[in-house]
Amino acid sequence: MKKIFFNVSEWEREYISSKLTDCEFEPGTVGETADKVFDAEIVSIFVNSNMRAEDLARFPNAKFIAARSTGYDNIDLGVTAEKNVVVSNVPSYGENTVAEYAFALLLTLSRRMYETIDATKEKGTFMHDGLQGFDLKGKTIGMVGTGRIGVNSIKIAKGFGMNVICYDAFPNEKLASEMGFMYTNLDSLLGEADIVSLHAPLLETTRHMINKTSLSKMKKGIILINTARGGLVETDALVMGLKDGTIGAVGLDVLEEEGYMADELSLLVAQHPNAESMKTVLENRYLMDHPRVVISPHNAFNTKEALTRILDTTIENIKAFEAGKPVNVVK
Ligand code: NAD
Repeated sequence: MKKIFFNVSEWEREYISSKLTDCEFEPGTVGETADKVFDAEIVSIFVNSNMRAEDLARFPNAKFIAARSTGYDNIDLGVTAEKNVVVSNVPSYGENTVAEYAFALLLTLSRRMYETIDATKEKGTFMHDGLQGFDLKGKTIGMVGTGRIGVNSIKIAKGFGMNVICYDAFPNEKLASEMGFMYTNLDSLLGEADIVSLHAPLLETTRHMINKTSLSKMKKGIILINTARGGLVETDALVMGLKDGTIGAVGLDVLEEEGYMADELSLLVAQHPNAESMKTVLENRYLMDHPRVVISPHNAFNTKEALTRILDTTIENIKAFEAGKPVNVVK
């Protein structure tokens, strides 16, 4: 079957071509090729490509979408089901990778790494002014979501000597007693934790789970880390919380409307520009400039090891579909 892969680098092309036949490659996202129609039956996309009705319409022969990610909120599963297009994901590839990154963001904030490195590299100074941080040891971290990435984050937190409390809509008490942590509800977690790290999927039930109402429940000066999905946090609440000091600092690998941050022009020239999205993009700009916020461009997954695991599972998913026995199917 004819296959097309979006958003692949040179080494990825070579890797995929060595294991699959009949492949075409596009360096950019599906959105970046908006004037083209493709005849491939198998379409492989990364999280930065959407697969809504208007996108799928450009793949008239599509039978299978191989998402090269764990999350698949960028794919309209209602539309794919209607068109009998099977969708698979990569259920696990980067549980340690993303957990390590959540702590990279946290350490950046706790030890003021951005300002510290800037002092020597950019300013050429060895003064300590403004560089004082705080210890992680002894602090309470609240993990929201105790799945694969959450569990790896708990292990790392314990390595730092932190107290761990957790919230999950589907608590796993066996895991809690094996790993030595306590579950609590979200409000209590927000009230007790010095640091909150989000590891839940973006679903209708989790959208804006951290919102303006949450601010009144939070311990003052809380640090929020989000490597999961931007939509879990209401951007308005971040702006308000930072302004009134409820939120002490924020580390984000994901943003609401992050797709538009790479291409703001597409929002401005859209036929029906969406005021909510424009407001969020503006708020994201405020956050990017804020001295107590660090933001990275959805990069937590990005290690050579994790990307190789993503490709291996995607290739297995495609071979299984071609053999008539699809695996890792999402519905
Ligand atoms: P997982 O499915 O293993 O775990 C998710 C956990 O969230 C589960 O324990 C589940 O019970 C829990 N959950 C579900 N609904 C919830 C709710 N309403 N409240 C609280 N918890 C809830 O997923 P994972 O592999 O740990 O990944 C977590 C998320 O991280 C993914 O959904 C994805 O969006 C994100 N992610 C981001 C990157 C990145 O590069 N930034 C990379 C991979 C994954």
